[in-house]
Order: sequence, then C-alpha cells, then structure tokens
Amino acid sequence: MKKICYNYKEDWRYSIINKIKKVVIGIRTLIKLFVILIVAAIVIVSIIQFTYKQTYSVSLNGEIIGYTKDKINLQKRINDYISSGNGDDVAFVEVKDLPVYTSCLLKRNVETNDDEIFEKVASSGTAYYKYYAITNNNTEKVYLENFQDAEEVINKLKEKNSANSSKLGIVEKYETAKAEFKDVETSVNELYEKKVTYVSPYRNIGTTIINEASVPTDLGITLIRPISGIISSRFGIRARDNHKGLDIAAPKGTAIKAAAAGKVIFSGNGAGHGYSGYGNVVVVQSTSSVVILYGHCSEVNCMTGEEVAQGQIIAKVGSTGISSGNHLHFEIRYNGSAINPQNYVYN
Ligand SMILES: [Zn+2]
Repeated sequence: MKKICYNYKEDWRYSIINKIKKVVIGIRTLIKLFVILIVAAIVIVSIIQFTYKQTYSVSLNGEIIGYTKDKINLQKRINDYISSGNGDDVAFVEVKDLPVYTSCLLKRNVETNDDEIFEKVASSGTAYYKYYAITNNNTEKVYLENFQDAEEVINKLKEKNSANSSKLGIVEKYETAKAEFKDVETSVNELYEKKVTYVSPYRNIGTTIINEASVPTDLGITLIRPISGIISSRFGIRARDNHKGLDIAAPKGTAIKAAAAGKVIFSGNGAGHGYSGYGNVVVVQSTSSVVILYGHCSEVNCMTGEEVAQGQIIAKVGSTGISSGNHLHFEIRYNGSAINPQNYVYN
C-alpha cells in the first residue's frame, strides 16, 4: 500500500494556484462581458447615428416651427436681419419673441428647414422700411425708394432753376409701411415751380435817363434808409418800362426820413413842376451832383428852400400821383441821371 504522504506544503500551494485560476477565469469573463458591452454600445450608437442626426428643434412662442443643425448660423442670420434689415428696403425689424432652440435627435430623412424658420421669425416681427422724402419748405412732398434718386431730383430742379430749389431737402424715413414711390421724372415734374418775375403794381414815372453803370458812382456821401419796408420794385428794366427809382412798400403815414442832408429844392405836388406822376414829392439837393427824390407821399413835412438834416422826417408814405399802392418811390440822380439806390442802401 502506498503510503499516503500528507504534504501540508503541497496542499497549500495547490489551493493558492486553484484560487488564482478562479480569479483569472473571473477576470477573463468580466473582460469578455465588457468587450461585448462596448461592442454592443458601439453598434447601438452607430445604429442611432445612422438613423438619427443631432439637431435643434426651434420653437417660437411655444410652437415648434422647424429644425436646424446649425443654430449658431441661423440665429446670426436672424440677428442680422433684426438689426440691419435685408440690405434693401427693410432697414431693421422689431421682433417680440426670439426662437428657442432645444437639442434633439431627428431621423436622418427629416429635412432641416433653416430658410423656413428664418422666414417665420422674420414675418413675426415688424419691418421698418427705409426710404426718402423730398421736402419743400419742410413739408414732405414726394417719396423715393433710394437716396441717389432723391438727390437726382433735387439736382435736376436746381438745373431747371426751379423757384423752390433753395427750400428743398431730403429726409430719411423709417416707417412700418412703404409710401407710394415716385420716379425721378415724375418727382421733378411735381416739384417744379416756375420762377415768377415780380411785376410791380406801381407804374414808372418821370423821364430821367437811367445810368446803369456796373461800377457804382461814388456819391461822396453816405445814405441811410428813409423808411423800413418791403422792396416792391427794383431799379432798372421792368416788364413794361425802365424804373428810375426803388419802390419800398410801407403803410400809409410811415415817416420818411431824409437819406442824406441837403436843401429841399421842391416840396409839394409835383404835377406841373417837372415832377409829373410823382404825386406829393420832396426833392433834396444833397451835393452839387446828388439829388434825391421821395415820391408818392401822402403829405410833405418840409418846405421848398429848407435845409434838412440826415434822418429828419421830411414826408409820409402815401400813394399820390401815378401809383397803385402805398409806397415810397426813392430815386437818386447823379448829375441828372437816375442811378440804382441799392448800390448805396437796401443792399
Ligand atoms: Zn417807383
């Protein structure tokens, strides 16, 4: 009989090896399981990725209006439109609600629709249109779609010497509705104002020769304005005749001051005294060369032969003689020729 030799040491080793073997098998099983899990996960993710795509659902006012893959670009496009319009007629847009993006998976065959989302957001806002008004005397008259056209209208009116050229302006408009636009030609026609040459209601008087020298004669004296008022007819060529003085309209009774000191050589009704048509007239000899006439007076306040000072009241405005309204006919004669008073006063 074989002696059973109990080897304590051997038995102990065997036990350890056995335990290690079990642990190794355990680890192997775990690794296998783990690999299987990873493979399974990869397969599932691949299937998901193959079937679905990462997108954002876009909602406006709680209602889903579409899907986008690129929310950053879409929102940038929306922001640009809100702040700067479409680069054409829309200047900017007021939008109450901005879209909300929610991350989601979407089946690959479902289309994203950035353009549609953009249109929906854009149309939910209030667009402000930019256009231009041409103003005449600060009143808006015609509307044009762009600035170049508006400028062209004004330039054409200036070229045509339109009476209102200096009163025209361009105003930039931002409105929620477009105006009725006109083209350049129509605008020019509508705005054009013919220059009306002022024709004095006061008739020419006297027969004195007019001296229209371009260089003003040096009178040797300084004149003051005999009255304040509106110049109603200038010196020189008029529609019907040559005007030998300057007409200044003012109410009847307005005091007329001597424009320069001098000796009154005539005062009273000029008819039959060489001043026919002048009505009540004061004629002052201011220097040996300069004679000043004040015509159509309602009354005279100086006497023939009297010396008057500059600024002294010599008569009152009226409409005597050949005249159709209260005014002063102010006439300066230099060596017998009428010269333009506006070379000296009212200039
Ligand atoms: Zn006159």
